[in-house]
Formats: sequence, structure tokens, C-alpha cells
Amino acid sequence: ATANSSSSSSGGEIIENVVIIGSGPAGYTAAIYAARANLKPVVFEGYQMGGVPGGQLMTTTEVENFPGFPDGITGPDLMEKMRKQAERWGAELYPEDVESLNVTTAPFTVQTSERKVKCHSIIYATGATARRLRLPREEEFWSRGISACAICDGASPLFKGQVLAVVGGGDTATEEALYLTKYARHVHLLVRRDQLRASKAMQDRVINNPNITVHYNTETVDVLSNTKGQMSGILLRRLDTGEETELEAKGLFYGIGHSPNSQLLEGQVELDSSGYVLVREGTSNTSVEGVFAAGDVQDHEWRQAVTAAGSGCIAALSAERYLTSNN
Ligand code: FAD
Repeated sequence: ATANSSSSSSGGEIIENVVIIGSGPAGYTAAIYAARANLKPVVFEGYQMGGVPGGQLMTTTEVENFPGFPDGITGPDLMEKMRKQAERWGAELYPEDVESLNVTTAPFTVQTSERKVKCHSIIYATGATARRLRLPREEEFWSRGISACAICDGASPLFKGQVLAVVGGGDTATEEALYLTKYARHVHLLVRRDQLRASKAMQDRVINNPNITVHYNTETVDVLSNTKGQMSGILLRRLDTGEETELEAKGLFYGIGHSPNSQLLEGQVELDSSGYVLVREGTSNTSVEGVFAAGDVQDHEWRQAVTAAGSGCIAALSAERYLTSNN
């Protein structure tokens, strides 16, 4: 492997220094750093979202907490800027899905719909997908009342001072509910079971909070709108009696978990019990030398654009160090 050169050649075969998989904040930040280190990274940006690169932030409007943008920036604008920055420094970008990879023997191989690439190192930054309820009107109200991120959207004018609801009974949902009490007039927690699954400490904080009402045995059926087409409430069904009720609410937050997009590494790299890629604490090193993971695919806790970008930086610098020391 040759850090500081485009790639190496073995028997006429090109072996890339580093392949980056994913085009969210983690993937593009890794691409910027790797390109500036002259590693000529090859980036597979993914094609799942109809060929639109950029990851989860492509599905949102304003991003108000990414440093450097005091007036906020839209998710797609932010991602376009990151993409341009990676391109400017020479990252090779391909709008392709990786379909399989082999990291059990070196050099590693990465297979997309269009090509097979060999490489000395991989930065795996495929993100996570927030689980959705698939309510009948979910698409209509996504980002206009329904959100999957309280930290991202709780303070938005759409939700500030309003009655809001969170669906879920685990740690994510209870954390979202507590967080939203900072901004909301009142928060309803909609729980399918007859109890919360969150840690005892979180349960106590939620139950003792006068600004949160917990609804047990409750299924979220759909969102309701007013005559102006704005979200005005939620249709609920009691699972024990079958009774349907309408709850007034201007926002519905999903706290039902995320699925890390780690399928390609299954059986090759250590994952935790929820499928997140395990990295050594404080690093982006996976259980396989030369394979690094960054962003939401290895982070079940923070899941922010800036933390994803930070870990993308660590992954690229680690890959550079790995390539240099294995030269
Ligand atoms: P992602 O952004 O998930 O990107 C993963 C990339 O990997 C995608 O481009 C995908 O196409 C690609 N990929 C997946 N599989 C493959 C494959 N097999 N081959 C090739 N490519 C693949 N965070 C904030 O800090 N502020 C906010 O305001 C904010 N708002 C949000 C609003 C919404 C609606 C959502 C859903 C999230 C929001 N977040 C926000 C969270 C933030 O978007 C994520 O933490 C961040 O995008 C994670 O970055 P990532 O690079 O790890 O992964």
C-alpha cells in the first residue's frame, strides 16, 4: 500500500488505497481528508435513494445545529457543499451501491452494480435508517409534522410551544419525550405495550414529569389534519379495548429505533447485537485491520451530522496511518 500515491499495482492489477462506502457527512468528510492526503479515494455514494447522494440529510429541510452556518442551512445544500469539497480535492465519486464486499483476504474486494474494485483499506459509512411506522399519511406529513429526530427538529417554529407526541417505549422514545419538554407545551408518549422498556432511571424521569402523559396499550393509527392541511392530531387505538380516540397534537416524533446499514459486513466484521459495527472505543477501527467504520452505522447513541463528520475524519486519518505503516 502506498499512502501519498493514487494506487498500487500488483501484476498489472490496480489496487486502490481506500474505498469509501456512503455519501453522508461521514463518507464525504472521510473523502475530503483522504483526498487531501493524496490517497485518491474511490467513493461509492449509494443509489438507494433514486441515485441521489447525500444520505439522511437529503430528507430534511433546515439543519440548525451544524457549526459554521449561523442562519441554518438546508440538508441538501449542506450535503452538496460537502460533496463539492470532496470532489475539489480529487475524490472519485460513483453514484453506485456496493452490492457485496470481501474483507476476509487482502487486498479487499468491493463489488458494485457496475464494477469490481480491489483496495487496501475500506471506510464503511453507510449510515442508519430511522425506523418508520408506515402510517397511511406518513409521506404527506414527513418533515411537516412527523419527525424522527427530536434533537434536530424540537426547537423548530413548527413545534415550539405546541402539544407534541412521541411514539415508542424504549430509551430513544423516553429521551426524545424528555428533550421535547424543553420546547413543547405538553408531550404525550404513545406506548404499544402496558409498560415502558426504557431503563428504570429514564422511566422514573418520564413518569415523574408533569409535562409528559404516558398512554399505554396505545397504537398510533394515523395523523389527522385541519382544513388548512396542517397536522392537527393523531388517531389512536386502545389495544385492550379496540376503542379509537383522537389526540390533539401538532407533531409526532418517532422514537422506535434505527437500523444500521451494516448488512454487507455481516459475518466478516464484528457487529453488536443490534447490528451496529463495533469499533474500538475512541477510534474507527473495526475488528478487521484496514476496515474502518464511521458515522451512524457505528453509533447507536449520538447520531448527529457533526458527530458523523467527526468520525469520518478519524477514519480517514486512521486509514492514512494504516497505509503508511503497511507500506
Ligand atoms: P447517512 O447520512 O445515513 O448516509 C449514509 C450513506 O450511505 C447514504 O448516502 C447511503 O446512500 C449510503 N449507502 C448505504 N448503503 C450503501 C451501499 N450498500 N453502497 C453505497 N452506499 C450506501 N443531524 C443533525 O446533526 N442535525 C439535524 O438537523 C438533523 N436532521 C435530521 C433530519 C432527519 C429527517 C434525519 C433522518 C436525520 C437528521 N439528522 C440530523 C441526523 C443525521 O442526518 C445523521 O446523523 C447523519 O446523516 C449520519 O451520517 P452518516 O454519514 O453516518 O450516514
